[in-house]
Amino acid sequence: MVVLALGLAVAGIVQALQQARSLAFRLMAPMEVRARSIADAALIQFERELMSGLQDVAGFVRTGSKEGWEPHGRFPVWMDGLFTWDGKTLGVVASPLYGVKGLKEFAEPSLKTRLEHTPSLPDSRPELIYGNVEGTTVVLACASAKDVVGRPILVVANLDLDRLKTHLVEELLPTGGDLELVNIRPDERDNPWSQQLFSAMRFWAIQPTEAFIRQQKQAVIGQTLVHLALTVLALATLLIAMWVLVRVLRREMALAELKANFVADVSHELKTPLALIRLFGETLQAGRISSESKRQEYYEIIIRESTRLAGLIDNILDFARIEAGRKEYVLEETDVVDVVRETYEAYQAQLDHAGFEHQLSVAESLPSVRADRGAIAQALINLINNAIKYSREERYLHIDVSEDTRRGKRGVLISVHDRGIGIRPEDRAHLFDGFFRASDPRVREEGGAGMGLSLVKHIVDTHNGLLDVESRLVKGSTFRVFLPAMEQRTPSSDQAVPTKPQPEEPGQKA
Ligand code: ADP
Repeated sequence: MVVLALGLAVAGIVQALQQARSLAFRLMAPMEVRARSIADAALIQFERELMSGLQDVAGFVRTGSKEGWEPHGRFPVWMDGLFTWDGKTLGVVASPLYGVKGLKEFAEPSLKTRLEHTPSLPDSRPELIYGNVEGTTVVLACASAKDVVGRPILVVANLDLDRLKTHLVEELLPTGGDLELVNIRPDERDNPWSQQLFSAMRFWAIQPTEAFIRQQKQAVIGQTLVHLALTVLALATLLIAMWVLVRVLRREMALAELKANFVADVSHELKTPLALIRLFGETLQAGRISSESKRQEYYEIIIRESTRLAGLIDNILDFARIEAGRKEYVLEETDVVDVVRETYEAYQAQLDHAGFEHQLSVAESLPSVRADRGAIAQALINLINNAIKYSREERYLHIDVSEDTRRGKRGVLISVHDRGIGIRPEDRAHLFDGFFRASDPRVREEGGAGMGLSLVKHIVDTHNGLLDVESRLVKGSTFRVFLPAMEQRTPSSDQAVPTKPQPEEPGQKA
């Protein structure tokens, strides 16, 4: 089960992470597409403007000389410092930025060498040449063309990158949007969604803004957490359901076993006294017993066994009534001491006969209790019977009736103390369950159906009392029944109380 749960947990986490990835992709992909389309549009526009600008310049140049031409303003504003080359002379068309000197310096060795050795560049595509003049990146565009009189020349333009950026790319970017233009080296890029611009502006990229990415990250994290929480919840529910199922199955199996044992135990319990009654009755009837004392002993056995039988049948009937919710108690002002004394006296002969040292101690002036006399007697009988049944060498029974206060309520406490076999700690939790019998072999030696204590519990609960047990293995046990005192007697207080199930009291102590 644990392996299954772990497997499900891992599957849930993997699933949540995959969902997070696909969500991140869904959120970011449109921005990436927009950035790419802006970069593409910028490239197309750049190439178109560059081409027509270079052609325009060539169309106005008469020779490669400086004086031959004045800028006319039709070429793009980001095209700055224009030169021509006819194979012999380097002519300056316009050079506000660098002048002849600047170009010459720049042209050595890259441009000039290239111009001398590549007099005929293809007509259609301008070529970009990169360089660095005094720490500033310089990009030159050159293309072969023809001057006004049809001689082949090379037109060279210096690109003003700042203007290029402002007039070309920024125009395409919506202001205040989620995309921004950043100056960054390609190898320094830490934004996976950034789109590098065309080669003239290769240190520039269009990418979603930090704020936008942060916002999307939060959305993804939020959804992932929800997903994970749902996974954990589903898993926990599954585990709880499995746990409940296992418990229910175990309980059902235990109940089935208890019921099977119950039938066997009850039949045994009924048969033993009946067999004894019959045996001693027949012996007496045959008139073969001459001694009077022996006859008396047989009578006593018959009476004792029939009382035991009656008690057992009472327990079975009460148990059945309780199960069916038909058991009723008549609660009335009761002198508990009187009930205890009567019951104890009825047992004295049996206790003497069984070799018990026994005593009853009663405190003076105890409060009155609203109780069902018969039920209290029955509870006490069950406790005394158990003390007798579960005692071995140390045969001792002490019943004590005193005043006590529990949970802030005054009342009467009846304690039944024995020095018998005691109860194992693991059995104590189930002691008051119906049909429960400890697995201790010394318990199994004795007859019993596991109904006595559950009846005691029911009776005590109906009286709003408390039942607990203190026990040490081999040393003995003390069962305590606490009955709250009557608060005030009212004329209507004597009434039958149906056996509604009472709330469970944690009525046990180790
Ligand atoms: P039964 O005595 O018929 O088995 P009970 O409901 O009276 O059923 O008691 C339930 C179990 O509690 C007993 O089987 C026994 O294991 C344990 N028990 C009850 N009273 C005592 C006692 N005085 N000493 C030791 N064990 C006891």
